[in-house]
Amino acid sequence: MGTLQESLRGRLRALGFDEVRFARTAPAPAGAGLRAWLDAGYHADMDWMERTSAKRLDTGLVLEGARSVILLGVNYLQGDGGGGESAWARYSLYRDYHDSLKEALRGAGRAIEEVYGAGPGDYRYSVDTGPVLERAWAAKAGVGFIGKNSMLISRRHGNWLFLASILARIDVEPDPPLSRRGEPESVGLLCGKCTRCMDACPTQAFPAPGVVDARRCISYQTIENRGIIPRGMRAAIGNRIYGCDVCLEVCPWNRFAQAGRRLILSARGDIAEIPLGELLGLTRERFAEVFRGTAIKRVKWTGLLRNACVVAGNSGERSLVGALVGLASHESAVVRAHAVWAARRLGADGRLEQAAQSEADPLVLEEYSADVAPAAPEPHAPPCGAA
Ligand code: SF4
Ligand code: SF4
Repeated sequence: MGTLQESLRGRLRALGFDEVRFARTAPAPAGAGLRAWLDAGYHADMDWMERTSAKRLDTGLVLEGARSVILLGVNYLQGDGGGGESAWARYSLYRDYHDSLKEALRGAGRAIEEVYGAGPGDYRYSVDTGPVLERAWAAKAGVGFIGKNSMLISRRHGNWLFLASILARIDVEPDPPLSRRGEPESVGLLCGKCTRCMDACPTQAFPAPGVVDARRCISYQTIENRGIIPRGMRAAIGNRIYGCDVCLEVCPWNRFAQAGRRLILSARGDIAEIPLGELLGLTRERFAEVFRGTAIKRVKWTGLLRNACVVAGNSGERSLVGALVGLASHESAVVRAHAVWAARRLGADGRLEQAAQSEADPLVLEEYSADVAPAAPEPHAPPCGAA
């Protein structure tokens, strides 16, 4: 058994997975945190989290007869992620990791078949969005521990692991969790007295250690939210145009992390170099061209324009006013609303008269009369990849 297992581990590592750990499906992680999180409404409008919760808590509902979980981690730290006027979550500066990992997981499936003599129906893999509590399983298998920032933290790779999992009808010896004291998925197992992540959050999105209220989180607001970003949160977004890494960046466990091997991932660091003025001028076609094959396409053209408006409004850059005034007449009411807010924040109320006259959407009209504090651009988040 052990030999087979180590043979599989070797094969998966050779495919480019930096962490390969095993767990048994029973006993499953308690999952009490997920239920409480959903009950508190901290998932905002991510209804799919609620819909898939039963499966997340019971691997048998995903793959009947699954006896093992294979946890796979890919280090996505880049030595230099570039640095422009806007900050992007590190994970986004790649070809879409879902696609890259799925390709590698197909190879992992073949390895399971060859090493264990399993059939193609004997395993099922998922990346991130699948109905598997990957972080809890990863903690159980000893890939890392769940920090007070709610992320899986590896002693070797810090906060910078993409996780994937494979449920399989094979028997493996489970790897031990990082500490046998208490429940392996207990939050903050190796955090000690540190609270840096919670203290540094620009929007106070942590109601408790390890618990993120998505409604207050910049990652949620700039990626998952498809509508209006609450006005009260926009200033705190600073120059973060897509996601937020603050509660990851500040974690002292990152000091051991080295840049990833990139056997699976393809970097797109060029995205971070696109000037803000160019982002504000993106046409639908140009958006499709530049962001094709990246995770960023998830926010769609209007979502990225919306985020660019918020960053422009926080920039203090008067040279962006012209572009914002143009976007105040955009076909999307969401873009218009944020463009009006940003232009007013840069002191350009007078240049919005024409757009205001033709505005009929009540949500956009609200932006013309709302109190708006002038932009105070400093301090900005460090660009992705900055030390
Ligand atoms: Fe706060 Fe940013 Fe972390 Fe969200 S991602 S909890 S906004 S620090
Ligand atoms: Fe834990 Fe500190 Fe890292 Fe937060 S910053 S996850 S408290 S070690």
